Amino acid sequence: MTDPLTQQIYKIRDWTYDNYHWAYLAGTAVLCHSLFFPDPAQAIYAWLLCLGLGAVLEPCVNPYRQVYGESMGRLASGVALTFDDGPSEDTPALLDLLAQEGVKATFFLIGRQIEKYPELVKRIAAEGHQIGNHTYSHPNLMICTPQRTRHELERVQQQILELTGQKPTFWRPPFGFRSPWTQPVATKLGLRSALWTINPRDFQDPGVDVIVSRTMAAVDKGVIVLLHDGLEKRGQTLEATRQLICQLKEKDFKLVRLDQGHG
Ligand SMILES: [Zn+2]
Repeated sequence: MTDPLTQQIYKIRDWTYDNYHWAYLAGTAVLCHSLFFPDPAQAIYAWLLCLGLGAVLEPCVNPYRQVYGESMGRLASGVALTFDDGPSEDTPALLDLLAQEGVKATFFLIGRQIEKYPELVKRIAAEGHQIGNHTYSHPNLMICTPQRTRHELERVQQQILELTGQKPTFWRPPFGFRSPWTQPVATKLGLRSALWTINPRDFQDPGVDVIVSRTMAAVDKGVIVLLHDGLEKRGQTLEATRQLICQLKEKDFKLVRLDQGHG
């Protein structure tokens, strides 16, 4: 369990994530006011400029916005469990669980991790899960050039092709961040963007119960759930996944791969 201070910081960060429009409006207003004080006219012009800039940047960080290219945020049917940032030492236990439960999932893999655990990539594919591209080094693509973006994606397409004989058709931008040129580059490589519907923030280690309840509170036909099996030790995701599978089955939700549920 994370210590109380970090939990508090997470709470403030979560609030900012969930209300970032207000945080941005208020933050820039205060900044413009204090920078240009005492001339209110200048302060208002500067604030309007900030609002314009915000309108341009907002679709880059909002996973549900499609201004800069189409992105799948939910499915036509089923519920998709997706695991980002692997493969890692946490992946084998997760694969064991999925096999035991007869569930197929989708794994968005990072190229650097693929280099460390090539056998796991083969195992994920052999056990019938879908593999997606999550870039080579997990950068913030908002600040990457089209060339760097292409390189990040192309390298992973090649790695996965060599290990499994198949190229991914889906990708997911790290942190969900994109720029106006990100998706056009991915489209040229035959990659469709898939984001998520529910983000229970398992990466914050909020407790197994919290991960499960955040997911179950928002679950519905067609949701895509974002979970993680890499980058850092994920102590709670495995048990949360076990409970989620159990509860989703009880409620008669069909667990699918992304390519099985999009319509
Ligand atoms: Zn990631």
